[in-house]
This record gives sequence, structure tokens and C-alpha cells, in this order.
Amino acid sequence: MRYISCLVILFSLISHSQNQVNLSYYLENLDSYDENIPKPNGYLLNNNEVGNSHVSHDRLVQYMYALAESSDRIIIENRGQTYEGRPILILTISSKKNLENIERIRQDHISLNSESGLAKDLSNMPVVIYQGYSIHGNEPSGSNSSMIYAYHLAASKSPKTINALNNAVILLDPSFNPDGLQRFAHWANTNKSMHLNPDSSDREFNENWPGGRTNHYWFDMNRDWLPVQLPESKARIKTFHKWSPNILTDHHEMGTNSTFFYQPGIPSRVNPLTPKENQTITSEIGKFHEKRLSEIGSLFYSEEDYDDFYYGKGSTFPDINGSIGILFEQASSRGHLQNSINGEISFPFTVKNQLTTSLSSLEAAINLRLKLLNYQKNFFKSSRKETSKNNNEYYLVGDNDKSKLFHFYELLKTHEIIIKTLPKNEVINNVEFNKESALLVPKNQNKSRLLKAMFEERTEFEDSLFYDISAWSFLHSFNLNFTDYSTKIKTKDLGLEKPKGKVINKSDYAYLFSWDDYYTPKALYRFLDKGVRVKVATNNFKIGSKEFDYGTLLITIKNQDLNTNQIHEIIQSLINETGIVFHGYNSSYTSGIDLGSNDFVNVSKPNIALIVGEGVTSYDAGEIWHLLDTRYQIPITKIKKSSLYSQDLSKYNTLILANGNYNLTDKVVKKIKKWVEAGGNIIGFRNTINWLNKKGLIAVEFNNNKPSLKSIKFKDKSNFYGSQLTSGAIFNTVLDRSHPINYGYNKNNLSIFRNTNIYLKNDSISFNNPITYSKNPLISGYISKENLKSLKNARPFAVFNHKKGKIAVFSDNTNFRAFWYGTNKLMMNAIFFTNLM
Ligand SMILES: [Zn+2]
Repeated sequence: MRYISCLVILFSLISHSQNQVNLSYYLENLDSYDENIPKPNGYLLNNNEVGNSHVSHDRLVQYMYALAESSDRIIIENRGQTYEGRPILILTISSKKNLENIERIRQDHISLNSESGLAKDLSNMPVVIYQGYSIHGNEPSGSNSSMIYAYHLAASKSPKTINALNNAVILLDPSFNPDGLQRFAHWANTNKSMHLNPDSSDREFNENWPGGRTNHYWFDMNRDWLPVQLPESKARIKTFHKWSPNILTDHHEMGTNSTFFYQPGIPSRVNPLTPKENQTITSEIGKFHEKRLSEIGSLFYSEEDYDDFYYGKGSTFPDINGSIGILFEQASSRGHLQNSINGEISFPFTVKNQLTTSLSSLEAAINLRLKLLNYQKNFFKSSRKETSKNNNEYYLVGDNDKSKLFHFYELLKTHEIIIKTLPKNEVINNVEFNKESALLVPKNQNKSRLLKAMFEERTEFEDSLFYDISAWSFLHSFNLNFTDYSTKIKTKDLGLEKPKGKVINKSDYAYLFSWDDYYTPKALYRFLDKGVRVKVATNNFKIGSKEFDYGTLLITIKNQDLNTNQIHEIIQSLINETGIVFHGYNSSYTSGIDLGSNDFVNVSKPNIALIVGEGVTSYDAGEIWHLLDTRYQIPITKIKKSSLYSQDLSKYNTLILANGNYNLTDKVVKKIKKWVEAGGNIIGFRNTINWLNKKGLIAVEFNNNKPSLKSIKFKDKSNFYGSQLTSGAIFNTVLDRSHPINYGYNKNNLSIFRNTNIYLKNDSISFNNPITYSKNPLISGYISKENLKSLKNARPFAVFNHKKGKIAVFSDNTNFRAFWYGTNKLMMNAIFFTNLM
């Protein structure tokens, strides 16, 4: 069903000069508002009303604190800081009386998620609504509207507001993305003309790369609700689970030529784990938006375009948690006033629509209060029932790499999933699970549906189109060993600490450490940066009963420019920061390659440049920057694509090309070629393979199976092309572990994530295919049968010699959204060990 209002005045053109609005544009009966509550304009530049310019996050914060200080309806809290150091605020808004008992109200509310809440009397229980704004920083109408909404809740004396405050707890998150909002506000304000110019070609509407959509490291934070790898998400998800809200609203903007969208989205693209009733209630809530948007003359639509499949999005994550997630999409004015096919669209108008739907969401929550509370209670009750017979059933998850396992544990803990200790060591299907490096996750727990959504492998789908990725299983993204497990032994809660490293046998001769730990790249870089000579084992060997695998690193103590103490100091610092275990030895003798053997090869320090700027996919470039900077502390120079020609590339030995369009001029290509020939290494991702191939830097063939176009109707055209996209799925690969690209992996199979249709044909020489897709490669997610055919006989990685240099390419994304811990080492191997390939 579509809610299309009768034709009313479309986009309210604000007639007086230069579209200046005042507060009465947004709120009625302002005379009746509490005059002791500060209005937003007092906190904005030049006392400008909201909508006349773009609020910076700094000023938004000032206003929210001022509001909280003057009102007994608001408790304000700073839950942490963004990468740029901005506060991550949450306002808890309710009646004074409710706020005085807020902890009791919260505990009563979350008790509905467990057995203990079944008998609770709901008649006086407030409904909880989490309202969040502008997770995409350059979709600013949400955050700007949050100031007026908060003002209204604090100052309105109307019976309707009083009733709402008595019956609801509002968690108001004024800016989901503080760094992005700040970046965008600066752009919009600095490009504003005094006489507003609505011409869409103006710089005001066309941001510089990478724009304000993303966070500091260029991540789309509206994909991180389930992986929770970013500080803003960590704060938000903590609040979510602390409160278990009944409704969560997520206010966005879309293309300027659209109108206004609210969920439900496309019915056939709802994740099958979401209960049907969730969508029914979403429609009922929609009635309230319909009424209020019609009243103010706004056009809108529903049940089209957007979906509810990937639980990592803000409007879908609540749906697997007994809540109702609602996406709002407002046509963007981007700047202050812009032409559209529907006439001029002003920034204040977009703010007003977001305010209107904030109010209609609250109105819906109040009216559907009992229904929502019952839905919450029944969601958890029925999910417990689904798994009640699995009382002794567990997921058993383990890994030799304790650092990686710890981060997996942390993720589950963030989602308040119960984790137990493995009572005894086990060997299952030839895989060892040790008590110290395994965890048991009970299948029967309150969050069993969320757990299922996090671990599930799915290869059948009702629809073949996806707004985002079709698979995300964390068991695979962390490359863990896992199996079903059943035990009647009473299990204890597991408390894991971040692993600390250690030295086994202090030595003045040599140390070995395995390349398996997640943080070894950090250690290797630290040694090289301090001038320590490090060698890598290109074969496996044994000392006594201790086995060392390919890629083991060797530090001799004597042949160094640093003295013994200095080296021990570095080792000590690394033990404190990572889980790496250093093994000391007093002789070069091993069974296998001796420590003095030529099969131990010197590793050089990488000096890395990453090409960024217009044309480069900022998400992919940001993932690489984030990984090297925040996890490994490896410096990376971000060179603007447009300034490549004038840069001295000889300062770098490694050049990373993230996915992107590299239409570089011939003289730049020539310069890069010369640099490679002199010994430079290029690491290229995804569609850079096509470009490198076209420019003659590499020579590859592609598999390219295409479907028949003989019986496709015109109306099905876009669905047909959509169904041929591989928008994000997980595949199984087979590793040749003797190849340096696979150092640090101690299993022969690796799950890998791909979101591209580039299928690199296998080379006829088998050792040129160190990673190949397995016979039945699809683990989870959607891929068309033609593309699956292209995947057979394909390889995700290839490396080429180019005189003294090398070019290594990956068709798949090894760094996806910071939660693919399992494949990060592939890129690190390309950074450190290309010279061995
Ligand atoms: Zn958005």
C-alpha cells in the first residue's frame, strides 16, 4: 500500500527575503512555551534560527547542555568520544517524576526481555523510544531538527506533550555522526551565498571528496550497527541494549529530486528472521506519519526502494532485537536552497519534515504503547521458546590467535550475549579446541535471534536484490574454528581479558615469533622502524617439540645496530601491547632450516602511500587507513590522486590503490611504471585490476559468464541487472600455505568476502594461484548462477613481476568494514612479503 496524500501545496516556498525562517515556522502556539527554556537560536551563529544556516556539532553540543541545565525533563550524558574527540551525547527525556525513578523504570522495562518480566503489569509502564539523527553527516536536516524537537519536549506545556512525557522515555541522540556533521556544516556554511543561489551546479551542493557522509576514517556508520567496530557505534549499541527501546528512528536524506520516505520498505526484502508482526506494527506507525505529513503539505511514499535485510543498518538492527526500526529519508536540499524537479527545496523545509516525523513517531509510540510493550515481551518469550529444547546446546568457537578471538568475544559482549567456558579440551573433526582459546555460546538465551542473525549462513533468498550486503557471518569474518557442541556439564561464565604477550626463555642470541597473531604486523613494523633487522622463515621447521610455521619471524640479538637492552625494551613494549609470544633460543640449530639459513630472508620496512581523492572509493581507502593507523600503528601517506605527478614517489616502496576509477594521465602512468620498474610495489584492489590490465602493467584474463537477455521484459530491466550484482557474499577458498601471501594462516581454507564481479581466471601454472575458490565456494549470501560459474576456476589474488618491482592484486576486499579480521593478514602479507613472491 502506498500513502500518497491528496495534492496539496508541494514544497513550501518561504516567501520573505532570502528564506529566513523563525521558530514559528516549525512550532505553533509559541506563547504557551516555558520561557525559562533557552531557544536554539541563542546558540547558533549570529542568532540565526535553525535552518537558516547549518549547525556545527560544537554548537549543537552547547545548546543541548544548556537545554538540559534549564530543564528538569532532560538528563544529558556524554558516552565517549569520536576519533576527532567530539562528545557522543544522549539525552534521556521524560517527565520529572519519571526521571527521578529512571533506573527503576529502565530495569522494569528490560525485564520484559526475560522470564522475570512475564508477570509485569504494563498498564503504567512507559514506552521507550530511541530517536537518532543524521548518521550520514551530509544529511543534516535530522540533526538540525533535533534541536527544535528537544526544545519542544523541554518547553511545551501542552497537555499532549505532558501526556507523552508521562508515558514515554525518549532517548534522543542528536547526532549519530558528530565528525561527519561538523565536516559537512563547515562545507555548507562556507559555500553559502548571501543571496541564496539554488542552482544545483553550485559548489555549495557538490562537496569535496570524501564528503561529510562518513566518519573520520570514511566509514559508513549506518553499516556498523551489527559489527560495532567504531567508537560512535559502541556508544550507541550500549545505549540500545541498556534500554531495549520499543521504537528506534533513523533520520536520513536522499536525492534532491525525491520526496519523503518512511518505512516499511519493500515487503519481499525483509530479512526472514524478522517476525511478520514487526512489519505490521511498522505500517501502523506509518499511519501517524501519513497524517502529520499530509497536514503540513508534504508528499511522501512507503513500501518502495528501501529494504530491511542487513541487520547492520540502523532501521533493521532493532528488528532482530524485539524493537521496531524506522527509516526516514528526506529529499535533500544539501545546502540552503536547491532547485529540484519538484521546485525549490529549502533547508528549513527538510528540517520541518524531520521534526514532523519525530513528533509523529512519539505520537505513535504513545498510542501504541501497550502493543509495543507486549510485542517486546512476546518477541523474547517466543525466541526463548524456539531454543528452549537446546538447553545443553552451544556454538563452540575457537582459534589459536587469541587476539582475534578476544575481539570476537568483545563483539558478542557488546551485544550482551552470554558466553561460557569450555569445560575440557576437545578434538572435534580433527580440530583442537583448547579451554584457554575457545568459547561456548549457549544457543538458548534471551538474545538467541540476534545470535542467529550474527552467525547464520544463508544461500536461499526470496528476492535477488539487496540494498546492502547479503551475508556477514562473524564466524567467517573472524576466520574462526567453530562447531555445534553439546554438554550436560554445568558451564561457567567466561571473562576474557585482552591477551598479553610473553617471553619464553630470555635470550641474548635470537628470538622467534610466529606470524599467526592478529597484531604481528604491528610488531614487525615496530622492529623495522627502530632499525632492527628481522628475517622471515620461508619454510617450516621444528626446535625440540616446538613447531614453527611458514612466516615465522626471526630477530637475532648480535647482528644488530641496537644493543641487547634496546631490543629487549622493544620486545617488552610489544608484550604489553599485544598477545605475541617470543621464544628465545641460544643456537641456530633446528630440525629443518637453521636460523642462519638463506631460507630466512630479510624483511624491508614498508614506506606506504595510499592514493586518495576524487574517483577513489573512500570507503575502501578509509578501511585501509583505519587498519594501518589504528590497529597496527603503521604510518600511511595519503596522496591526492590529482597531485600524484608532482610527488616524489621514491620516498615510498609501497603504493596502495584502493578500489576506484584511476583515469590517470599518460604522464602519471609513465611515472608509476618507472617507479615500479625501479623496485616499487603496487597493491591494487578490486576494479583497479581492470585499469592495471588496460595500462599494460599486468596481464590477466577474466571469466565472464553472462546470462541470456532473450526473455527479459522492459519493466524487469533494472531488477534483472540488479540480480547480476554480487553485492557482498562469503566464499570458501583453498590456500597454498607455502606461498608468502598465505603466511600466518594455519588452516588450508579461508573464508573471503567479495563485493565485485571481477573474476580473475586461474593461471595455467598452479603455483601462480596460491588462493583459489573451492569446488563449492558459496558459503553465505547471494550470487547469480552465471557469476557463480565465473567464480569456478578463478582466483582472488595474483602477483606480477615488473622488472625490479611487483604488482599484487586482490579482486576481493580483505579489509571490509573493519570486521573482516580474518583476511586482514592477506593485505599485510602483500605489504611485507611481496619480494618473496
Ligand atoms: Zn543516509
